[in-house]
Amino acid sequence: MKIALYIKESLLDNDVDTYLIGKLTEHGFDFDQDNPDFVIVVGGDGTFLKAVHSYIDSLDEVQFVAINGGSLGFYSDYVLDEIDELLISLSRGDYNCKTASLLEGEIGDKVIYAVNEIRVESPLTTLLCDVEINGTHLEKFSGNGLVVSSSLGSTAYNKSLGGAVVLGDIDVMELTEIAPINNRIYHSLNSPMVLVGEDNEIVLKGDFSNCVVGYDCFSLNNGLNSLKVKISSKKLTFIYKNERNFIDKIRDNLVE
Ligand code: NAD
Repeated sequence: MKIALYIKESLLDNDVDTYLIGKLTEHGFDFDQDNPDFVIVVGGDGTFLKAVHSYIDSLDEVQFVAINGGSLGFYSDYVLDEIDELLISLSRGDYNCKTASLLEGEIGDKVIYAVNEIRVESPLTTLLCDVEINGTHLEKFSGNGLVVSSSLGSTAYNKSLGGAVVLGDIDVMELTEIAPINNRIYHSLNSPMVLVGEDNEIVLKGDFSNCVVGYDCFSLNNGLNSLKVKISSKKLTFIYKNERNFIDKIRDNLVE
């Protein structure tokens, strides 16, 4: 079996890569950055997101497992000291994994994918944006921006905006507002909206020339004026440790 490593840059100074490559050899794995069966990520959530994006075209063949590199790791259950235990589980095929859909955005002829969320944000000027859900006009939003989150991303930016944390293996898109303006002229729902199921589509239309379209830790600004977001057929599979459940994770990372 082949394993790739994706390590947060600042940790490379500590020779984590050399240590891990040694461990892979010891446990009979091949080190292969190009066509791996597993990608071991060492770092925080941002590193995990970057790792997924760097294997975006081979998500069907690759499973991810994250080792916490010191910062908050919502995606990482393991610590470096547990590397032997992890590699033994991988070689025996004795592990738990979760598969979750990515979000897919269409902006002009560019297609973007996101693990956590796709968003339109206007840092300097007010964004005016028509929101359509499944072909029906919902509102003309005015404010700083709109975020469409996945189930996995519900604990990330979505949560900071008052969106609900999603428990369970369901595919949802959750639409939240960033600093909505609600006055005599502009009215928006002013509440998160959860769309359950694979067939929904959110379309945002407006003048995006002063906006950033963000997807996870990436962004683009191509001046286009319409963004479509739906649940993608691309799925991410990641491995987690047996003994922890989601409530423990939420409590340990987001409450305590
Ligand atoms: P990072 O590792 O610095 O992540 C930023 C923060 O988001 C960290 O605290 C991280 O632990 C947390 N995070 C990321 N995904 C999470 C998830 N699924 N559940 C719980 N917490 C999660 O790296 P980054 O490159 O800045 O990460 C990009 C992500 O940062 C975006 O996808 C977005 O969700 C998040 N973000 C959050 C805010 C906010 O909450 N106000 C603003 C911008 C971006």
